[in-house]
Amino acid sequence: MKVVIPKELLDKANLIGGVWSNAESGKTFEVQSPVTGEVIAKVPLCDTADVEKAVQAARRVRDEFKDTPVLRRVELCNRIKQLVLERKEIIAKVMTLEQGKPCEGESIPDLDETALLFTDFAEDIVRLEMDTYPLKDPNKMAFSVREAIGVTAVITPWNYPVLIPAEYIAPALVVGNPIVFKPASYTPLSAILFARCIQDALDELGFPKGIFNLITGPGGSVGNHLVGHPHVDCIAFTGETVTGQAICSRAGLKRTLMELGGNGPQIVCDDADLAKAAAAAAFGCYTNAGQVCCATERILVDARVHDKFVKLMLEETEKWKVGDPFDKKTNVGPLNNEPTAAKTETHLDDAVKKGARILVGGKRESGRPTGLYFQPTVIDGVTPSMLLNKEETFGPVAPIISFESDEEAVQIANGSGYGLQMAVFTSSIKKCFFYSKKLRTGTIVVNDTTDYWEDLYVPFGGGGGTKSGHGRIATHFTMEDLTYIKTTTIDFANAK
Ligand code: NDP
Repeated sequence: MKVVIPKELLDKANLIGGVWSNAESGKTFEVQSPVTGEVIAKVPLCDTADVEKAVQAARRVRDEFKDTPVLRRVELCNRIKQLVLERKEIIAKVMTLEQGKPCEGESIPDLDETALLFTDFAEDIVRLEMDTYPLKDPNKMAFSVREAIGVTAVITPWNYPVLIPAEYIAPALVVGNPIVFKPASYTPLSAILFARCIQDALDELGFPKGIFNLITGPGGSVGNHLVGHPHVDCIAFTGETVTGQAICSRAGLKRTLMELGGNGPQIVCDDADLAKAAAAAAFGCYTNAGQVCCATERILVDARVHDKFVKLMLEETEKWKVGDPFDKKTNVGPLNNEPTAAKTETHLDDAVKKGARILVGGKRESGRPTGLYFQPTVIDGVTPSMLLNKEETFGPVAPIISFESDEEAVQIANGSGYGLQMAVFTSSIKKCFFYSKKLRTGTIVVNDTTDYWEDLYVPFGGGGGTKSGHGRIATHFTMEDLTYIKTTTIDFANAK
């Protein structure tokens, strides 16, 4: 499919203080499609001068925006939802072209969910209750409100170029935080089209300029300057664990939300529904070509049901077809970028050298427009010492690890140090509670995939003390992370 790149992506694609602009230096960088290999656009290559301008624009409206009546911000979110839905076809096509995910099966649903997030947070804010407190003195009263925290830097990855930013932007806007948004450099285009929806809604409703700003450029310079800027009050970041660690060490006392890497094990017990477990594992391993923070990165199988499970897993894998992500029959598009493809190969090579066996797949497809089309891969005989077990692979790989006891499964699952989302398949209520208690992770799913996702209503984020970060995505949890509690105590004894 030939996607015509919208003209607003080809010039003045950054937004500072309500004005669409180029980088102050005039420099640009290229965005290359993993689907076709073509350069599809050049976007502003910002530097610290642009960061300064964007942060100051947000800072100027910080107090005015926080004091806007909440129902005005609710109206804003409702309008953004409408605009996203009206423009979703073109945003989805651009997203598929720059990211690689199947258009019908993934990009369109990502945008439907993005739109829903805005009304979801708009509904939640009007029900956000706060407390009054009992005091000894009958002439005093104390109450709290949740106050917007201030200028929020939103820095996000390339695997969900619009949905992940929306998880922060929707709640930040509804609570009254102005934003400086830096999208991932591999996928800035759909984010820019999304930003158009936001700025158009702000303009239509007469909000001051500068509430929402977008700058493109490298994380190492633009992102780094943004997080250290003294007028940035809060950092909402999704990305790799090492980047999150670097940001936290620069952030000092700023509020941070850190949604970091995962290494989701799916544990298959001997009493599990194996057919359901295999279908769930395939979904978890191959959706978005495995480039999901809660992807099934490892499948831990009780040795007693290992052979039966592997047979079912191979059957399920046949249903996942690599190809052109604009083709409705495709459910695995290309990987987004070369470092991800190279890492997938490195992890597979390491496992094979240490004795694991590739049962199907294992390499890039030949004869495709780019070298990023990677075959869905099942690899058996994986052991805890292999990179596939210890690190996040982020490719379409199903590594199978056998275990002899539930205690051993817990040890392997927790051993990688990540703790985002883990899944367990069992028909025993006793095992369900055993794993729920023993796994160190932010969320556990019993009898569904690690990719199970209801971010609108279920809190999502890293478990305590793990490499998967802190903060929560969903409903009042994110709004609490993006605000602070301000308490007022009033002595009205002599008040008029
Ligand atoms: P990165 O950490 O490489 O990049 C994420 C963002 O941070 C990009 O915008 C990047 O800019 C920017 N960045 C890079 N370095 C810095 C820096 N020093 N200071 C400030 N910003 C910086 O992650 P990926 O884009 O590779 O995304 C994949 C990762 O995201 C995986 O680990 C995945 O698990 C995780 N993730 C976590 C989720 C969760 O909810 N827990 C959800 C989705 C993904 P640039 O693009 O210019 O390099």
